[in-house]
Amino acid sequence: MNGEQAFKRFFKGESKFPRFKKKKNQDVKAYFPKNNTTDWTVERHRVKIPTIGFVQLKEKGYIPTNAVVKSGTASMQAGRYFVAVLIDSNEKPKEDIEPTNGIGIDLGIKTLATISNNKVFKNINKTNSVRKLKRKLKREQRRLSRKYEHKKKRGEKTATYSANIAKQVKKIQAIHYKLTNIRNDYTNKVVNEIAKTKPSHITIEDLNSSGMMKNRHLAKAVAEQRFYCFKQKLECKCKDNGIELRVVDRFYPSSKTCSCCGNIKKDLKLADRTYTCQECGLVIDRDLNASINLANAKIYKIA
Ligand SMILES: [Zn+2]
Repeated sequence: MNGEQAFKRFFKGESKFPRFKKKKNQDVKAYFPKNNTTDWTVERHRVKIPTIGFVQLKEKGYIPTNAVVKSGTASMQAGRYFVAVLIDSNEKPKEDIEPTNGIGIDLGIKTLATISNNKVFKNINKTNSVRKLKRKLKREQRRLSRKYEHKKKRGEKTATYSANIAKQVKKIQAIHYKLTNIRNDYTNKVVNEIAKTKPSHITIEDLNSSGMMKNRHLAKAVAEQRFYCFKQKLECKCKDNGIELRVVDRFYPSSKTCSCCGNIKKDLKLADRTYTCQECGLVIDRDLNASINLANAKIYKIA
């Protein structure tokens, strides 16, 4: 099915000619539809994958045994195998009990998110555990690079893939996997925390991530914050909980406007961490000011 999709896109001229998957890459997946009645039989400790047969599960109890499975995907990541199944569910979105006021979220690099109710979520990439992992990743990547260099020095014209290189690649994949898990977990927790307060609406800025990525000093920090992933998860969460998600145009002066009197300060620099208003004398944290403005924004699109 993935192949069909790839060829359709190729014939429409949307993408290049499909390439075969490489076993050494991480995104190796196989999709299995349910063609026979016993396909995708789910038990507590094992699952029947079509053509492969029963496979023991390492982590038990995650797949609901009483649900009707439609299809599934087996995948491999960092030397581990995963299975995901698609089920029919008639769970309805939860009813909202008593919504509080709307909130605004200012996303940034210094802190991941500043909420207009004065809550701040730190940047996970600045914690010690992530920093340590990133250092380790750098070292292991250097080791891999040296393995290729040695081969070249020994006179091999093309540095070929070998068993030792494969081992090193796996090590690097494992670190990447760990980092992804940490970041994913943190994003989930932040989104959950925000939705738990049951706001009537949530306003966010339409961030120009690709524009920010062009700045080579910011690119890595922006990529590590994974704003797109955050937005997607928030969107999904809002849908489930009946919260209106508003997206404000990226040219809305959320940082430059005073959240108290509405005066616009034109000469605000990126380095100014506190906002001081000349009109009403308000002194407020820059990100908090922006998030309050977002919460009160009148012009927006509903995501
Ligand atoms: Zn003011």
